[in-house]
Amino acid sequence: MLKVHAVPAFKDNYIWLVQSENSRKVLIVDPGDADPVLQHLKQLELTPAAILITHHHADHVGGVSDLLERYPVPVFGPASETIPALTDPLTETESLMVEPDFPLFKVIDTPGHTPGHICYLTENKLFCGDTLFAGGCGRLLGGTAPALFQSLQKLKQLPADTEIYCAHEYTQANLCFANAVEADSEALQRRIRKVEQLRDAQKATVPSVMSEELATNPFLRSDLPQIKKAAEQYAGRPLLNDEAVFTALRSWKDGF
Ligand SMILES: [Zn+2]
Repeated sequence: MLKVHAVPAFKDNYIWLVQSENSRKVLIVDPGDADPVLQHLKQLELTPAAILITHHHADHVGGVSDLLERYPVPVFGPASETIPALTDPLTETESLMVEPDFPLFKVIDTPGHTPGHICYLTENKLFCGDTLFAGGCGRLLGGTAPALFQSLQKLKQLPADTEIYCAHEYTQANLCFANAVEADSEALQRRIRKVEQLRDAQKATVPSVMSEELATNPFLRSDLPQIKKAAEQYAGRPLLNDEAVFTALRSWKDGF
């Protein structure tokens, strides 16, 4: 099994170092800042083999140039976005060979947060950038609500034990919103308490697990009657399909 190290960066970003089973090689996912990555590499005696980028935002690519000065490795990222020093432009594919020491990756097109956003899946690990968050989803920063809805529908199909390695520690605020949407959910109350304990102990709440997201993340639950009802109350009008419910939730959260 791969081992994944979390590198906290900025205020609430996570940069992921994915270590191969039998070597000290790592893939660096979304290095927004080089310094904390370089520190971790040194501390844990790890060597980069490649950089994987989910989308073009500065807090995901800002460290690429500095890392390349030290380690000239390939840079994988979305073909339709401008990524610094991109060597391997990607679109959706069933099997991507990043490096022989690593298992194959699946690349999933997930537009919505940005128009060209992609996610990476290997083993049961999903590196989903700013598309799906623990308890929430990304804002619309260039993409559209229908696109993000479809992208999340795709991610929902992944196995229930899929681990969600998103790029931000937003869980507590996300669950606060989830609680406004769906206050009488037992599963949500349990998760809120668990996340509170983790944060009080200054621990990460990420990765989460898909089964947990399916049970508590309102953005994956727009097909349920209680979510539809809450979204209609917010919107002040009937919402005719799941996508309209999702769109209302996204705009409700923006102003929450
Ligand atoms: Zn972003």
